[in-house]
Amino acid sequence: MKPDNFPKEIQPFLVPSPCGDLCYRCLGCKGEFPITKLLYVCPDCGEVLLIEDRDIQRLNKISGTTWQQIFDYRRMLKIPALKGIYRYHEFIGPNIPLESIVYLGEGHTPIVEANQRLQDLAGIRFFYKNDGQNPSASFKDRGMASALSYIKYLIDQQLVSDIIAVCASTGDTSAAAALYASYLQPHIKSAVLLPHNKVTPQQLSQPLGSGASVFEIPGVFDDCMKIVEKLSEEYNVALLNSKNAWRILGQESFSYEVAQDFEYEMHDKVIVVPIGNAGNISALMSGFIKFFNAGIITDLPKIIGVQSEHADPVFQYYLEPDRSKRQFKPVTVKSSVAQAAMIGNPVSMPRVIALADRYNTLAGEQRVFVTQVTEQAIMDWQLEANRNGHIACTQGGESLAGLVEALKQGIVTKTETAIVDATAHAMKFSGFQDLYFSEKIPEAFNIHSNQRFINRPKLVMPKDKKNIPGQGTPLGREDFNRFAEDVSKTIAQELNLTTNL
Ligand SMILES: *Cc1c(COP(=O)(O)O)cnc(C)c1O
Ligand SMILES: [Zn+2]
Repeated sequence: MKPDNFPKEIQPFLVPSPCGDLCYRCLGCKGEFPITKLLYVCPDCGEVLLIEDRDIQRLNKISGTTWQQIFDYRRMLKIPALKGIYRYHEFIGPNIPLESIVYLGEGHTPIVEANQRLQDLAGIRFFYKNDGQNPSASFKDRGMASALSYIKYLIDQQLVSDIIAVCASTGDTSAAAALYASYLQPHIKSAVLLPHNKVTPQQLSQPLGSGASVFEIPGVFDDCMKIVEKLSEEYNVALLNSKNAWRILGQESFSYEVAQDFEYEMHDKVIVVPIGNAGNISALMSGFIKFFNAGIITDLPKIIGVQSEHADPVFQYYLEPDRSKRQFKPVTVKSSVAQAAMIGNPVSMPRVIALADRYNTLAGEQRVFVTQVTEQAIMDWQLEANRNGHIACTQGGESLAGLVEALKQGIVTKTETAIVDATAHAMKFSGFQDLYFSEKIPEAFNIHSNQRFINRPKLVMPKDKKNIPGQGTPLGREDFNRFAEDVSKTIAQELNLTTNL
């Protein structure tokens, strides 16, 4: 629909123009810094930053119900800049003009209700939000659309040029960074650092295909992260890890989409998300807080972060019930099939602590929880989900396992409805499925293949092994009929088919 055809009272708000008063806010010393240049940590105390809108009060001049209508009507617009995460422009990057926005099809991923069978198995009504249906097949595209739109804005204003964008990655960050950077050729080049042998072949193929410089480093993600931090401190590069607060801003779109998809009815909702570097759960909390403060939602949903017992520093932190005694300690990670979340020292931990406090205070009760799951549960729930029509990755399995665990512990009840984040596409992590099905998962994972799930291809050969078609050597008609007869009989027997002759 064209802007002129919308209701008169919505028209002035339909297409946003730049507004707001953004700054970086330090979570340590509370200092504020202008956004005219790229900052990743506080120049004064070194702590991580969040982006704050000093003029956020202006959003309250519009009522919550009017905001709901604005977003619902924007859904019908055909303006590329507003088709993705910037449908929520006023909340996601109000300073960025529409001309600078990079849109590659991210956001508005499907929310699919689990079938009755899977809901019965899990013990609760739930939906998967398929963030694997983003352009590079993970939710990281949300944050990259934001970070790269901001960089494009700086380029358009001639504040920067010839950017080298760098990131460390468990696989998906680099795929997304390389994709968005390649779209902005020739202004931006990207370089990605990956832990050697700790990303899947599919994930490795992505930045290579996008033309990024790919460096493999011995060690785990946390080691790559340290090298990238050193690069960003000592050289003129743009850091694209979620240390970059623009990434968090873009990932808030997940919350806004969930709110909009459920008609802004959040009182009985539970959002379940895996935690790695903790950028995503930070963004989720921040997003819901902003919608709550603007009166767009009247309740804050429960948020459940999930960690594997092989990489659980956030879970360990919250085990201590007394807030004043809590102390963050990085952990040494062990092998995890939820490889994208296999992080022992999450960069966004200070954000989690600050935002969870704010969230629980605003809600008037504890609404943020962290659960821990076994590697076995991650794998088995992923396979169970995908046998019931989903495309969940191992981290999506982790989310579902975390929901089941939360139910067991009474953190959620059957009367609630969960939205479970499948953070990437199953195909990126199909190697773990292969290992499971061939019963070859290395011991370090502590996973045993459940016979119920194992599925392998069966090669069907005819009795006459000389009478088979080959490439370039087709069988004659008679021979082929013989071959087809023999092979179809074997298949019919396998499937217990009854004849209709
Ligand atoms: C990055 C990633 C995570 C972890 O998200 P954080 O923001 O680092 O906590 C989980 N799942 C997938 C598929 C990812 O790519
Ligand atoms: Zn500071």
